[in-house]
Amino acid sequence: MSELRFNELRGEQVAYAIQRQDRTFLPDRAHCPLDPTQPGGPPTEIPLPEFEIVVFDNRFPAFESPAGAAEVVVYTDEHDGSFGLLSPGRAEALMWVWRHRYMELGSREDVQYVYIFENRGIEIGVTLHHPHGQIYGYPFLPPVAALELDADTRLGGCAPCLMLETERVDGRRIVYENEAVQAHVPYAARWPYEVHLSLRRHCPSLLECEPEELRLLSVGLQALVRGYDALFERPMPYVMAVHQAPTGGRAAGHGHLHVEFYPPLRDASRLKYPAGSEQGAGTFISDVLPEDAAGALREAIVRGG
Ligand SMILES: [Zn+2]
Ligand SMILES: [Zn+2]
Ligand SMILES: [Zn+2]
Repeated sequence: MSELRFNELRGEQVAYAIQRQDRTFLPDRAHCPLDPTQPGGPPTEIPLPEFEIVVFDNRFPAFESPAGAAEVVVYTDEHDGSFGLLSPGRAEALMWVWRHRYMELGSREDVQYVYIFENRGIEIGVTLHHPHGQIYGYPFLPPVAALELDADTRLGGCAPCLMLETERVDGRRIVYENEAVQAHVPYAARWPYEVHLSLRRHCPSLLECEPEELRLLSVGLQALVRGYDALFERPMPYVMAVHQAPTGGRAAGHGHLHVEFYPPLRDASRLKYPAGSEQGAGTFISDVLPEDAAGALREAIVRGG
C-alpha cells in the first residue's frame, strides 16, 4: 500500500509507493512487459497475441483504490515506435480512450483529479521504452491544478482562454494551429522548448469535445511531437501533461483542456537540469527566449511533417 504524507512546510502531499523500487527497469527487448503475449511465449502484462490500445492497473501504483488510481495506457502492440508515429486512426482512438478513462475515474468518489500523462525518454526516468502513457487518479487536488484554478480567480476568467487570445494576437510564439487547437510556447515558459497545446473552444475536459475536436487534437499532438523529434534530429524526451477540470470537490468542472509539454533539452545533447534556483527557490532560469524557441519549433514542425 502506498502512503500519503502531508508536507507542512510546503503545504503539499507526498506519496510513498515503496513497492515501486522493485518495478521493471529497462528490460531488454525480448522481455518487454508491454508486448503482446506470444503463443507459447512468456506471459507479459497483456495476455493477448495482438491488440490496439490496452489500459490496465499499474502493478506498482502510486495511488490505488480506495484512495485513487494508477493506470497504464499502452498505445500499440508494436514495441518500436512512439506517439508521433502512431497511425492517425490510432492516435484519434487514443483520444477516445483518454476520454473514457477520464469519465470512469472521474466518476469515482475517491478520485478528485484525473491526470493523463506520458513520460518519454531515459532523461525523464522512463523505465520502459514501449510506447505508453499513464493515468493517475489523485485522491486530492494536486498543486499544479490548484495553481491553474487560482490563475482563473486572479485573472477574473478562464486563464487558458485568455492566454490563447493573448498568444493569438501576438503571434510570435505560436508553433502550430488547426481549426480546433492552438499550440504556443508560453510567454514565460519555464522549459526551453515548453509548449502548451490548447483546445480553442472553452472545453473543461475531453468529455465536452466534439468528435471532430478530438480528431484535430490528436492531429495537433502528433504534429507537435514529430516536430520535437525533428528539432534536434533525435527522439525528444519530454513530459506530456494533459490538464483538465478536476472531477471532485468544489473545483469540479472548472478548467480548460490543454496539453503541456516539458522537454528537458536545451540543445541536442545538453539537459536543462532543475537545480539550485529552480529547486531551492522555485524560480526557473532559462537561456532560450520563448520567441526564439517558437521560431525553431515552427520550422521543425514543418520538417517533421
Ligand atoms: Zn514492448
Ligand atoms: Zn477556457
Ligand atoms: Zn496547464
